Amino acid sequence: MAASARFRLPPLPTIREIIKLFRLQAAKQLSQNFLLDLRLTDKIVRKAGDLTGAHVYEVGPGPGGITRSILNANIAELLVVEKDTRFIPGLQMLCDAAPGKLRIVHGDVLTFKIEKAFPESVKRLWEDDPPKVHIIGNLPFSVSTPLIIKWLENIALKNGPFAYGRSQMTLTFQKEVAEVDVGVVHFTPLIQPKIQQPFKMVEKVVKNAFQFRRKYCYRGLGMLFPEAQRLESTGRLLQLADIDPTLRPTQLSVLHFKSLCDIYRMMCDEDPQLFAYNFREELRQKKRKTVEKEEEEEEESY
Ligand code: SAM
Repeated sequence: MAASARFRLPPLPTIREIIKLFRLQAAKQLSQNFLLDLRLTDKIVRKAGDLTGAHVYEVGPGPGGITRSILNANIAELLVVEKDTRFIPGLQMLCDAAPGKLRIVHGDVLTFKIEKAFPESVKRLWEDDPPKVHIIGNLPFSVSTPLIIKWLENIALKNGPFAYGRSQMTLTFQKEVAEVDVGVVHFTPLIQPKIQQPFKMVEKVVKNAFQFRRKYCYRGLGMLFPEAQRLESTGRLLQLADIDPTLRPTQLSVLHFKSLCDIYRMMCDEDPQLFAYNFREELRQKKRKTVEKEEEEEEESY
């Protein structure tokens, strides 16, 4: 049987020329900076593994450097979601050069519903090997951070991009504007999470632990508890979780977080009000009371 011919994009203007042609100067206030070197974008896309026959979701394609490398990777289809209208004509040019391969959505990756975008037939059971669904993107930190938190929750709930199974992600993280500072991270969701507690609970423990990232961990973790019981409850949490209170948040391992989440869960089961506690709300109420008291004292002194 003859093997089907591998698709390659025809010769096209370079990304630099596309940027000039469509006047796509990077908007620095949106942390836009573009990958111009196709050897670099090919390298990023190779980190995703074998994309033959894959359905790929690219977030924030911009002028289309990574997009070209994905289109040349023998994929089944590529869906791109781009927020900035200026990039749509350049992407349309790629769409014409790769008939039937590229779908362009002008939208926001934070709200786009990817779960209905690919055929049902690509779905795999969670316990199976990952489906042929890949997420690839080079986004600014301001977007990638909330997006990754959203995707972590999607993984826990097996919805969003993970309605297809354990979809893989290959994302770049830019430290600075310079291209050489691009780091690529490839993720595959585990079959069993390392911390078996509800996502919101894990998120709350982690967020609090990093509240004061340069201080000892007991400071941030203490904020999980109302002021009146803070000292005692934080001591109990750390003792039962067997954690040195003078470790910094960045020194805590996944295993430490597992123990913290398990013990915090136990404490929430003992005290059903605890999970809803929010130290910022307690601070707000305290401030309001102080202002009211000062106003009362002022009125009395007249
Ligand atoms: N992927 C391109 C590259 O590597 O050259 C562009 C990278 S640039 C750092 C980030 C891109 O993400 C820009 O094109 C920007 O318009 C787009 N973007 C930012 N926020 C977005 C959002 N919420 N939804 C969709 N696209 C977004």
